[in-house]
Amino acid sequence: MGPTLRLRLIPHVLLLLVAQMASAVVPVLQFDTAQFVLESFGRDSDSLGLPFPHPARPVTLPVASPSKSFWLDSPGANPLAKVGSEGELTTDADVCIIGSGITGVSAAYHLARLLERKGGEANRTVVILEARDFCSGATGRNGGHLRPNPFSGFARRAALYGVEDAVKSYDLEEYTTQELLRIIRENGASEEVDLVSEGRVTLLMTPEEEESARVDFEAAKAAGLGRLDSVKWIDRETMNETRGTSFPGVWTPGSNLWPLKAVALLFKLAASTSEKVNVTLHTHTPVTSVEPSTDSMSKRRYALFTPRGAINCDYVVHATNGYANYLLDPAKSKVRVVPTRGQIILVPAIAGTEAVGKTGWAANEGFEYWFPRPVKDSDEERPLVVLGGAREAMAPGFEYYETDDGVVNRNIDSALRSFLPKMFPGLYDETSEPTWEWVRFSALP
Ligand SMILES: Cc1cc2nc3c(=O)[nH]c(=O)nc-3n(C[C@H](O)[C@H](O)[C@H](O)COP(=O)(O)OP(=O)(O)OC[C@H]3O[C@@H](n4cnc5c(N)ncnc54)[C@H](O)[C@@H]3O)c2cc1C
Repeated sequence: MGPTLRLRLIPHVLLLLVAQMASAVVPVLQFDTAQFVLESFGRDSDSLGLPFPHPARPVTLPVASPSKSFWLDSPGANPLAKVGSEGELTTDADVCIIGSGITGVSAAYHLARLLERKGGEANRTVVILEARDFCSGATGRNGGHLRPNPFSGFARRAALYGVEDAVKSYDLEEYTTQELLRIIRENGASEEVDLVSEGRVTLLMTPEEEESARVDFEAAKAAGLGRLDSVKWIDRETMNETRGTSFPGVWTPGSNLWPLKAVALLFKLAASTSEKVNVTLHTHTPVTSVEPSTDSMSKRRYALFTPRGAINCDYVVHATNGYANYLLDPAKSKVRVVPTRGQIILVPAIAGTEAVGKTGWAANEGFEYWFPRPVKDSDEERPLVVLGGAREAMAPGFEYYETDDGVVNRNIDSALRSFLPKMFPGLYDETSEPTWEWVRFSALP
């Protein structure tokens, strides 16, 4: 990619990432993955000045039969699943939010607080519209890691955007993580959302990876990035003795949780913020188009059309992630979002928590990521491990522009099944059947 093109791309990348990160979600490796993709496709720019190839097919609405996710489909996990799907549809609102993942629900949470303080005397209405069950997109299907990137990729980011902006981007991730942790803890919900804050070990599988991690760490330290004192480097021998795998690595602070339950908590808080702010949820209500309002009886600016009827409102928040271009024409809106799939399995360890530990993990330059779910009886129970990744099994296409989260990919399945037994021979066994396997798809800006 030539320097001119790269410079033109930066504002698009930053704006879209900031929009996502500011919504109290921590997109694991998203920044670096986006840059990687930009560079991979850099020679194929289009009329928007964006480097991605044109989609092979149009972006669809979310499919009706997604694969079943442990987070969403475990018994009793999603009491909000069908809320507002039947009966009368709200027809008038101040703000409509399309999408009930962490972006949409955290927008509702912050809006409710803002309108309570600054919304004047009038009562205000915020409506969340969701095509399927509550939170059934990427947020209800992801890897469950809640962690700011502490320094990875710092040197490259500083070279691309300058040290000051690089530091700000890491601070933003730290802030959003701490905010979500604060909300969970202040509401006494750590147990409810299965919050475990035991950090993350990143395995450095090649000398180049280790060298690059150390360069990033030193560059981040020299730039004055905070919070680096807690970072612990682990050599190969210690890792082997204490964690059962023969790669060096680095421990950094981090948590894991049940993402759907954290978002359900945010929704509950949004809906109970104030009697002046009515936050309503309509699941199973896909928005099929957003138009300027032509309803002569309504003074609102926009009309949102759904199979259940129209809703008039003044502001629209598109929190639709990889489905964004179903509603937003890329040429007119200058918003272009690349959907991409990911696959996750839940597989039992063959050892107990004492051997498996409680930390989250990443390896292979972040392609694979996993953590053991907490167990009730650490002597008896074998932890179930949530493992995602193996996308390199689908190189070079990496399943970009794939919006079907209903079909499990068999190549990725077999790569995932063999990954942990190869890395930790005494702790996992290739013959163990995953108890759940699901697909999620997300977006690269
Ligand atoms: C493989 C992979 C693993 C990841 N793992 C992690 C992780 O461990 N930790 C982490 O923090 N992040 C992770 N991420 C990123 C994270 O999951 C996403 O960034 C985040 O969930 C996006 O949230 P969202 O609310 O923007 O989108 P979503 O959760 O996808 O929500 C969008 C919602 O909009 C709805 N929708 C779409 N179109 C319409 C329409 N027209 N009308 C009505 N509703 C509509 C969808 O049904 C969906 O529910 C991962 C990403 C990938 C690719």
